[in-house]
Amino acid sequence: MEKKITQRTKAIIAVDYAGQPCDYDSLRAIADRHNLILIADACHSLGAEYKGKKVGTLADLTAFSFHPVKHITTGEGGMVVTDNAEYAGKIRRFRNHGITTDHRQRSKDGTWYYEMVDLGYNYRLTDFQCALGLSQLRKLPGWISRRREIAAQYDGAFAHIPAIRPLRVLKDRKHTYHLYVIRLGQEGSEADRSVIFDSLKKMGSV
Ligand SMILES: *Cc1c(COP(=O)(O)O)cnc(C)c1O
Repeated sequence: MEKKITQRTKAIIAVDYAGQPCDYDSLRAIADRHNLILIADACHSLGAEYKGKKVGTLADLTAFSFHPVKHITTGEGGMVVTDNAEYAGKIRRFRNHGITTDHRQRSKDGTWYYEMVDLGYNYRLTDFQCALGLSQLRKLPGWISRRREIAAQYDGAFAHIPAIRPLRVLKDRKHTYHLYVIRLGQEGSEADRSVIFDSLKKMGSV
């Protein structure tokens, strides 16, 4: 990754593929060395951990998706978390047409005043979606344990089949299994994914 960095690079975006966090200590060191912002795409890894630290605390900005296929859903939508006040302000403006304050803040401050200072969009989650998201959040721990149970069953079932190699889970990570990824075929003789998929489909397994 470091070889790809040029004068024009502004940020590193790391994807916690399948639900296992990336190596954030190394990413942080590279980001600091080149003065880059570190962004985590944690759409697969809500609830996961790296060296005892939760996803969402590992990068400057962390993005989550609440699309229906993800760990929890709000129908559509997502969330960015950061502990940087400047980024938080920018993102709040960006989701609200580039406007400096929202209606809640104006009523709190007792003022009508606002400015449109940036280009922005309407990326606001509705209150209905947030209510759904909060009730989903309460169910998250149970769903993560169930995903881990199922993954452990697969691990056990595949342990003695050399042609199926599951994605390795590293010791210092806690995986939350948005996906259970396997590599097919022995070393040097990769199996064709579509052939396997079609056969499974014929057997009624997918
Ligand atoms: C789902 C997903 C996204 C996109 O999420 P949206 O809510 O559809 O914008 C981005 N990155 C990864 C890794 C995802 O899994």
